[in-house]
Amino acid sequence: MKKQFKAESKKLLDMMINAIYTNKEIFLRELVSNASDALDKLYYTSLTDDKLEVKKENLEIRITPNKEERTLTICDNGIGMTKEELETNLGTIAKSGSELFKENNEKQEDIQIIGQFGVGFYSAFMVSEKVCVTSKSIKSLDAYTWESSGADGYSITKAEKKSHGTEIVLYLKDNTEEVSYDEFLEEYTIEHLVKKYSDYIHYPIKMLEVHTHKKEDSEEEEIHEEDKTLNSMVPIWKKNKQDVKEEEYQDFYTDKFYDYEKPARIFRSVVEGKCNFTSLLFIPNHAPYDYYSKDYEKGLQLYSKGVLIMDKCSDLLPDYFSFVKGLVDSEDISLNISRETLQENHQIKTIATGIEAKIKKELETFLEEDRENYETFFRAFGMQFKYGIYSTYGMKKEELKDLLLYVSSTDKKYVTLKEYVANMKEKQENIYYACGETIDKIDLLPQVEAVKDKGYEILYLTDYMDEFVFKVMQEYDGKKFMNVSDEKLDLDSEEEKQVLKKANENCKEMFLKMQEALKEHVSSIQFTHRLKNHPVCLTSKGDMSAQMEKVLNAMPNKEENVKAEVVMEINENHEIRKKLEDLYEKKDFDTLEKYTKILYAQARLIEGFSLENPTEISNLVCEALSK
Ligand code: ADP
Repeated sequence: MKKQFKAESKKLLDMMINAIYTNKEIFLRELVSNASDALDKLYYTSLTDDKLEVKKENLEIRITPNKEERTLTICDNGIGMTKEELETNLGTIAKSGSELFKENNEKQEDIQIIGQFGVGFYSAFMVSEKVCVTSKSIKSLDAYTWESSGADGYSITKAEKKSHGTEIVLYLKDNTEEVSYDEFLEEYTIEHLVKKYSDYIHYPIKMLEVHTHKKEDSEEEEIHEEDKTLNSMVPIWKKNKQDVKEEEYQDFYTDKFYDYEKPARIFRSVVEGKCNFTSLLFIPNHAPYDYYSKDYEKGLQLYSKGVLIMDKCSDLLPDYFSFVKGLVDSEDISLNISRETLQENHQIKTIATGIEAKIKKELETFLEEDRENYETFFRAFGMQFKYGIYSTYGMKKEELKDLLLYVSSTDKKYVTLKEYVANMKEKQENIYYACGETIDKIDLLPQVEAVKDKGYEILYLTDYMDEFVFKVMQEYDGKKFMNVSDEKLDLDSEEEKQVLKKANENCKEMFLKMQEALKEHVSSIQFTHRLKNHPVCLTSKGDMSAQMEKVLNAMPNKEENVKAEVVMEINENHEIRKKLEDLYEKKDFDTLEKYTKILYAQARLIEGFSLENPTEISNLVCEALSK
């Protein structure tokens, strides 16, 4: 009986059959990798199951081309699949993949996206018109054959197979003008592909080699068959460093970690000490499609003497380095370590500490040696560092502070905090920053203009968490962070300060009157020198800025609204001052109130906030214009 594929599986399958994916040869890598996984699974199971006796040296993968039949067979003596497993594993594609597929179908990026989760078993259909999978599970006495010619569905029937494992027979497609499928039956092609993609597989990948000899003293030919192991079985991270080419690492990375782009950094090290380990780590160039979703699982592959024991060991990576991919191989880790005992494991802790230091060092080198690419990397992952500082309440500040980049007012380029401090003016005490939605909007803030005018550099913060991170860090290299909208900001000379103080005292009563118009919106009104040409701005008193208030109140599960203490500041040197004072003296409090409201609305708009009463403001402006 024919069964139909699930919708998403069918789509992927169709794509494989029609092979828009040009790199057809990777089918072999995929099938070999599945076979290797099946051998790994058998090996683990045997570690905890006394009844199951498995000798590691007997585990193997075998490739058999048959030119007459035009078939290619890939065989393993691994864990095998039951009838149900054949059904669920081969009838549907990996879940994460299929979910993604639903959202992305029809799009051009599909191919690349497929690359991100591995094309898997279905890649067999890129080269085959029919695929037969005969498998016997260690859990079952019966064997079954799963058979499919692609889109019209599949069938599962009972079969004969002596021992556990899986045998996949590919019935190759007919040759076309563009592709010669026969090529995949050639021994040298197979050998080349195994070397290229699967050399590090730690089980032997064998192929029977046939030699013909002339018999001695006779014209007769003797046929001699011999097993040949095609792969070196030495994992790439165990090879001599000078023997591994950069491209080999890159290929290893793209294959193993499902990326279509080569990594930004590759670093490998051997650590000897309390716990010996080798690590091969990669920093990706871009975030994987699910990086910022809850589905993303951080972690490094954990090997024990070359055998993979865990695919994503999350305890090896801190959250702020969750983008790092790679592996750790240690002879000091026991093979049957479980997820539960992992956290208490001292070796794992020691390795994790070592790994963290290595990553940090590599990132610093990256920043130093290859600034342009570091900036690209930072755009993709920089948020992690900020989050790392914030979520540990500053405990990780020392580790992460020098990896941060901020856009600076000087030429709108990224600078590090170190560079900022090195560029500080003599007697400058603070690191100035300004917050807003975009760099351009921040650049136009009146408060920014004045600080720039005095020759100070300002860091422009556009991430919602930026300011919180600065609050947690408090200072860098002894220099305090200061928002240019902080009421405490004071760049005046002594003389100017006196002038301002006097002006504020003189107008105290007027400000109180004006404040009545704004009620709880502002905590006070005063003159300022921080504005060059602009009439008005908002600043905040205390620890919370207006921007922070906005972020916190936008959080979904906040308990109650927080409130920043907002001060409305009016340019002491602006003409509007005179107007306000006139109105106050004339006791025209009605107009004074209206002007106050307009000024406040202007200040809010400039800060990037919306108006609570746009209609009222619009009417007030019209009224003022019509006078
Ligand atoms: P993935 O390997 O990414 O999970 P595949 O489509 O390649 O996706 O394979 C689907 C599943 O089929 C595997 O997860 C595995 O459980 C099973 N499978 C594939 N090949 C074999 C094999 N040779 N032996 C045992 N199980 C296999």
